Amino acid sequence: MIKRILVTGGAGFVGSHLCERLLSEGHEVYCLDNYFTGQKANILHLTKHPYFELIRHDVINPYLIEVDEIYNLACPASPVHYQHNPIKTIKTSVMGAINMLGLAKRVKAKILQASTSEVYGSPMVHPQPESYWGNVNPVGERSCYDEGKRAAEALFRDYHVQNNVKIKIVRIFNTYGPRMHPNDGRVVSNFIGQALQNKDITVYGKGEQTRSFQYVDDLVEGLLRTMGTDDSFTGPVNIGNPDEFKIIALAEKIIKLTNSKSKIVFRPLPSDDPLMRQPDIKLAKKELDWEPNVELDKGLEKTIAFFRQAIE
Ligand code: NAD
Ligand code: UDP
Repeated sequence: MIKRILVTGGAGFVGSHLCERLLSEGHEVYCLDNYFTGQKANILHLTKHPYFELIRHDVINPYLIEVDEIYNLACPASPVHYQHNPIKTIKTSVMGAINMLGLAKRVKAKILQASTSEVYGSPMVHPQPESYWGNVNPVGERSCYDEGKRAAEALFRDYHVQNNVKIKIVRIFNTYGPRMHPNDGRVVSNFIGQALQNKDITVYGKGEQTRSFQYVDDLVEGLLRTMGTDDSFTGPVNIGNPDEFKIIALAEKIIKLTNSKSKIVFRPLPSDDPLMRQPDIKLAKKELDWEPNVELDKGLEKTIAFFRQAIE
C-alpha cells in the first residue's frame, strides 16, 4: 500500500538515506528540514522524483500535514553540532516531539522517534539492553542532547498511554556512511577526512574507549522494520551493530584502508565521553527479525569512497 510519509530531518545524513529507501518502495515522501546540519545536496538527486516534496520548516513550530506515518529525525546528532547551540538542541528534541506527536494525534498517523544510545549515558551495564535506565549527567555538556532525547521518549510514552497515539521508539547506536557531514566532528568522519589528507589523526584520551559502529543501510532497514510492527509494539528497541572497537583500533584501521601517511596524535578526552558502548540487540532480533549485515571494513570502504569525492 502506498503511504504518505513525513520524514523530519530528512535532509540530514540518516534522513536522506531513509527518504531514498521510502521512495524506492513506492511511497510519497515529505522531507521536512531547517537545514541546520542537513544539506540540500543530500537530497538533490531525489527532487525530480514525482513523489518527493521538500518542506523548509523548523520542528520547534507546529506543522500540519495529512500523512500516514512520521519518522521524527530532526535534531543535530554530532556532539560538535548539538553543543553549538545547546538550548536550541533541547528545544528541537522536546518541542519537536510535542509538535510531531500533536500532529500524529490529530491525523492519526503512526510516529517513530529517532532516539539514541546516549539515553544510556556512560553505561554501568554492558552491553546495554533496553531495560537499562542509564547513567546520564543531567548538567553536563552532553545533557542538552541526552536529556532532550530522554524527555522525548517520555513524551512519546505519554502520548501513547494518554491519547492512544501509535508510537515506536528506536534507540540508534553510532551510525556512519556516505553523506555524513565532513565537518561534523564525529569520529568516523574526522578520521577519514584526516587520513585522506595525510593529516594527524586526533584520538581523544588514550583511545581505549569503545564504540560499536553500524552502517547506515542496516539502520534504515531497522527503522522500516520497526515502523512495520504491530501497533502493540512501541519499543524502545536498540538498533545498532554489536561489533565493538576501541577508538585507537578504528584509527589504525582507517589509516590502513586509506593507505594514509597520517600519524596518530592524542588529544584531551571531552567531558562525560562514555567509556564504552555496545547494543544488546536481542529484542530487535526477536521482534523485528533484524540484525546488521554490513561489516565495518565493507562499510568504511563505501564511506571512504564518498569522502574522497567530497573532499576533492
Ligand atoms: P544530521 O545532523 O545529519 O541530521 C539531522 C537533520 O535534522 C539535519 O538535516 C538538520 O538540518 C535537521 N534539523 C535539526 N534541527 C532541526 C529543527 N529544529 N527543525 C527541522 N530540522 C532540523 O544527523 P543524523 O546523523 O542524520 O541523525 C538523525 C537522527 O538520528 C537524529 O535525531 C539523531 O539524534 C539520531 N541518531 C543518530 C545517530 C548517528 O550515529 N548518526 C545515533 C543516534 C541517534
Ligand atoms: N573521538 C576521537 N577523535 C575524534 C572524534 C571523536 O577520539 O576526532 C572519540 C570521542 O571522544 C568518542 C568516540 O570517538 O569517544 C566517538 O565520538 P563521536 O563524536 O563520533 O560519537 P559519540 O561520542 O556521540 O558516540
